[in-house]
Amino acid sequence: MSKGVLLLSGGLDSSLSGLILRQMGVPLVALHLESPFGCDSMADRMAAEIGIPLVKRPKGEAFLDLLAHPKYGYGSAMNPCIDCRIHMFALGKAFMEEVGASFLVTGEVLGQRPMSQKKRSLEAIDADSGMEGRVLRPLSAKLLPETGPERDGIVDRRRLFGWAGRSRKPQLALARRLGLSVIPSPAGGCLLTDSHFRERVGDFVAVDWTGDPGRGADRAPVASMLRYGKHFRFEEGEWVIVGRDQTDNRNLETHIRSAGVAFRPEGFDGPLVCILTRQEEISPRMGELAAGALYAFGGDKVPDGPLTVTVLSGSGERPLTLPPLSPERSHLKEKETWIPRWRR
Ligand code: SF4
Repeated sequence: MSKGVLLLSGGLDSSLSGLILRQMGVPLVALHLESPFGCDSMADRMAAEIGIPLVKRPKGEAFLDLLAHPKYGYGSAMNPCIDCRIHMFALGKAFMEEVGASFLVTGEVLGQRPMSQKKRSLEAIDADSGMEGRVLRPLSAKLLPETGPERDGIVDRRRLFGWAGRSRKPQLALARRLGLSVIPSPAGGCLLTDSHFRERVGDFVAVDWTGDPGRGADRAPVASMLRYGKHFRFEEGEWVIVGRDQTDNRNLETHIRSAGVAFRPEGFDGPLVCILTRQEEISPRMGELAAGALYAFGGDKVPDGPLTVTVLSGSGERPLTLPPLSPERSHLKEKETWIPRWRR
């Protein structure tokens, strides 16, 4: 029997779509496309719950390009939902060919989202991704034209649904009836729909990533760090990120080595301080910025005098002593010098 590829965000709707087809015995493989911003997802748990194999792939650099100039514009925050879905369907199409599947399955519900789930938007998404007639939307299928797998008898159209609109009640009732042990959020937790994240992403996509040697970092790992820490950008093109708590420190440490260097305090408590750069060598200016940030955000726990740190970079870890700041640079110790690029 021909199989389908379930685009699984990890939200309730795509999970239910998978479950409905599994109950009909339709073979499925789940594909989770990872956001460059590292959104929280329950895809692992939901794939296990549905009982299907899961493959994860990145949305990739091309997604960052479309995010800067989406053909169909943004939703209420920085979410380019129509372009995003076209991109995901195109990736899904390539994956279908890889695994020998003949159709895509999604959790879309007609009219649920003002931007991307109107009938005309669904038609545009299918057409632009070259997937017309091959996208099955089990939750709204009865309101939409018949698709390939229904015509071919792989899927029983009578057992699909005809839901439309923004109400979540039918989904929640079905989730209970099907015995889902966990009810994930509706849409899978996309950060781009978060209005608090809008300013960060808007600024991130406006940066000329090719033109500033002072910054010089690759944008993909920076995208992964965008949700963590306080971000400071200086006129000279320097970009400093300071962890706000242990969670930030841990996550920044995971990504910084491919985008710059980090300074981890040794022998005293303080934040992880990251500087975006391509160079491994620590210049005097970088040392001053790191020491200043440690004083400004480490509070009373930071000792006077030279600071012992471990430098983390692409080539490994090494100890370093940051000399005390000169009187001309002592303003870097003051929090007022550090004006966050983003307030959150
Ligand atoms: S909510 Fe996020 S992941 Fe979903 S279509 Fe919109 S931008 Fe893409």
